[in-house]
Amino acid sequence: MKYVSTRGRTDPVPFKDAVIMGLATDGGLLVPQFIPDVGNKLNRWSSLAYGELAFEIIRLFADDIPENDLRRLINASYSTFADSRVTPIKKAGDLYILELFHGPTLSFKDVALQLLGNLFEYILAERDQSLNILGATSGDTGSAAIAGVRGRKNIDIFIMFPEGKTSPIQERQMTSVLDANIHNLGIDGSFDDCQYLLKSIFSDLEFKEKYQLGAVNSVNWARVLAQIVYYFSSWYQLDMPARFDVCVPTGNFGNIFAAYLARRMGLPINRLILATNANDVLSVFFNTGRYARGDVRFSHSPAMDIQVASNFERYMYFRFGESGEKVREFMDAFNKSGKAQIHLNTPEVDVLFRASSATDAETVECIRTTFNSFGYLADPHTAVGLHVAGKYIQKDIPMLCMATAHPAKFPEVVQQALPDTWIGHESLDLLKDMPTRKENLRADIDAVKNFIISHQRISD
Ligand SMILES: *Cc1c(COP(=O)(O)O)cnc(C)c1O
Repeated sequence: MKYVSTRGRTDPVPFKDAVIMGLATDGGLLVPQFIPDVGNKLNRWSSLAYGELAFEIIRLFADDIPENDLRRLINASYSTFADSRVTPIKKAGDLYILELFHGPTLSFKDVALQLLGNLFEYILAERDQSLNILGATSGDTGSAAIAGVRGRKNIDIFIMFPEGKTSPIQERQMTSVLDANIHNLGIDGSFDDCQYLLKSIFSDLEFKEKYQLGAVNSVNWARVLAQIVYYFSSWYQLDMPARFDVCVPTGNFGNIFAAYLARRMGLPINRLILATNANDVLSVFFNTGRYARGDVRFSHSPAMDIQVASNFERYMYFRFGESGEKVREFMDAFNKSGKAQIHLNTPEVDVLFRASSATDAETVECIRTTFNSFGYLADPHTAVGLHVAGKYIQKDIPMLCMATAHPAKFPEVVQQALPDTWIGHESLDLLKDMPTRKENLRADIDAVKNFIISHQRISD
């Protein structure tokens, strides 16, 4: 399998290069040259354990890693999960809930970042190379990425987060990791500022080359790839229904894009239901065709406080019939004026999507009623999805909602919904007394570059 850029101006590269490269050199995102059809394999895979299923799917996209090595990397990645099914399904009333948060940092990001950490180490060792990972996080990516690469010899990681805008627990999950290769950067700005810094620094190809920058954000193809697996796993857990709907609380469009790919590979997903908080750029897009960024609105589901979803470009690429030229036109218009418009429903694709949003008040209310009616305690991100799923559920079609974080990560919102319920988690309780380390920087490209230059360990 080879990977090409959504903007059509790079030569095809194999999987391992795509993992190390992160963003494509023309500023686009890497996508597979074709999407394999696994329809005729679905029955054969029905009794596989998660790791085996992951191996069968991932090897189709990562055919430049010997099978035994790939198997070992995958098994190591999912042995850190607290549930043997890795992503188990629970039920709350008529809704099925796929719990994606049983990894080390209690958010769904671990599913991808545990694997990415192992892939990085494997590829770098093979090439005798080092990597400086630069990432931006609104909370969960940072801690999951840090957990994926802490203590690894040939990797330094620099994580930018919007100072004061991640939850205190999320911040501690990052800053309490004191390994020498971990660098936490509290940026004076919003998450979109952090994403902008990230994109700008990556687009400086000279700098990227010289300091061997790598990406862990959902721009990295391996993350999307790892996330495809649990959609297949969930279908088997549901006993292979003729079709099912999935509802995904969405920020950077990574999780739901993985569902889109799983569907294109032949998994019988019926509709893709996209749920946003007050940052409803994508919800507006799928209802009107208008794609326009506004100012970030801070919500109870901070991992989704995003106006410009980095993975959306991958969807647009397939939406435009894999035309890099059309993606370039669309992104140029959007980058110049902050908005772009397309006509919906011309090719077959958009009709698969339904989209709606939940306010903070609806999120809190959903946490309360889901718990009081069904005894299921959802975190605020999950609750955004549950609220929206309720609008679209149909008789006789299972509705599978993604649970993207453990509720103990967001105790303030849970308390607001259920004042008498305290939810904790032992791994989070342990953080309270741990020493922490971080650096505060302005939202300025040179400030971040200079920090990297003075703290990275690659010699000239
Ligand atoms: C990252 C994250 C999301 C958003 O996922 P995307 O792939 O960016 O759409 C939702 N919920 C939680 C808890 C997250 O950490």
